[in-house]
Amino acid sequence: MKQMAFVTRMRCSACGRDYSPDEKVYMCLKKDGGRLDLDYDYSAIAEKVSKKNLAERAPFLWKYFEFLPLKSEKNAVTLNEGGSPLLKAESLGEKIGLRNLYLKDETRNPTGSFKDRSMTVGVSKAVEFGVRTVATASSGNAAASLAAYSAKAGLKCFAFVLESASTAKIAQIRLHGTRVVKVKPAEEGKDPTVQMLQKVIEEYGWYPCPSFGPFNPYQVEGPKTISYEIAEQLGWKLPDWIIIPVGSACLFAGVWKGFRDFKEIGFIDFMPKLAAIQSTGCAPLVKAFREKKSLRELEPWKNPRTVAGGLADVFPWDADVALNVLKKSGTAEEVPDEDILKAQKLLASLEGVFAEPSGVASLAGLIKLAEKGVIEKDETVVALITGSGLKDPEATMKMEGEVPTIKPDIEEFKRKILNAEQ
Ligand SMILES: *Cc1c(COP(=O)(O)O)cnc(C)c1O
Repeated sequence: MKQMAFVTRMRCSACGRDYSPDEKVYMCLKKDGGRLDLDYDYSAIAEKVSKKNLAERAPFLWKYFEFLPLKSEKNAVTLNEGGSPLLKAESLGEKIGLRNLYLKDETRNPTGSFKDRSMTVGVSKAVEFGVRTVATASSGNAAASLAAYSAKAGLKCFAFVLESASTAKIAQIRLHGTRVVKVKPAEEGKDPTVQMLQKVIEEYGWYPCPSFGPFNPYQVEGPKTISYEIAEQLGWKLPDWIIIPVGSACLFAGVWKGFRDFKEIGFIDFMPKLAAIQSTGCAPLVKAFREKKSLRELEPWKNPRTVAGGLADVFPWDADVALNVLKKSGTAEEVPDEDILKAQKLLASLEGVFAEPSGVASLAGLIKLAEKGVIEKDETVVALITGSGLKDPEATMKMEGEVPTIKPDIEEFKRKILNAEQ
């Protein structure tokens, strides 16, 4: 049982104030909207972890315990998340003109999205702090995941979701025993679920565990394990590009931090380029990137409208990291809903992977970047496929229309099905 945390300090990304990792703190006490960024003692980690001993550990998120902010491994609340496959996409690659395309298939996580990486860390930390009640604001996946981990840990959980949250996600949240509440919009450019979350934290002191950094700095550390896995799965030959769907940009920040951790410890010597993809119906980060704005100058999106519900964050809380990273390398791109739905179908029909619209926005963005020549055909590309298609079947059914019904009759089959196909 591992007993050590390698976090050296927590520093507010807004005001720079430092906190000790022993403090029971989730948000900067100045309430300035900053995220408490965790720093690690890499030379101490290097004494415990090598490429070789990583290869010997079973593939799941907590194999990277030393890079995570838990003090004792016994507090880890796990459903065996992480360790997702990296699939070589030959047919899809050929179709879009890329020779080395890989898919990081995050649909395989316990609740069907990468959010399990965030919530296993967030909930484990809640257990370590001894809290009893947790709360979240979410379009669905983060709440579904928090609900599952809270059930496993025996914590009470409240989830505030948007009215537009998919039925499948709401069903998941409820069955895990979480109190789920839909919250109506009240102010333009403000996420009503976040407004409600802020109120209950203030009123009851519950442990906030949404999937954005300024409310909970521990869960941010989960998604970085995606990068660790990619490095290991490619035999330490890093790809040129990672393509990331973006809502709050917490995933983006995590992916970046994962590669940076491995660079700090000397496992890799360069960072892949990162591409942030949003829907044209909600693209505050892409807009800020194009206008060279910082997070402080970024305007919240007024009226998000997209099939990619998981990307409909009016304010990208963790976009400071993305905007800094993208200034130096990488790119940001937006794609219309119809491209997202086309990419969803391509992925399912050519590669056998069924993803929800938010989960394939990365692929739609990649197709656009390849067409523009920003990404070249010989470059190695990893697209993150972040959520399962079973999360939001309504979006798909609307596109595909009615399924034909027949009697068990071969003539009817010939007439209505086979002949109709020609
Ligand atoms: C939350 C989510 C995203 C976006 O992640 P952020 O950290 O909010 O940028 C992408 N895909 C799916 C399926 C999600 O649930």
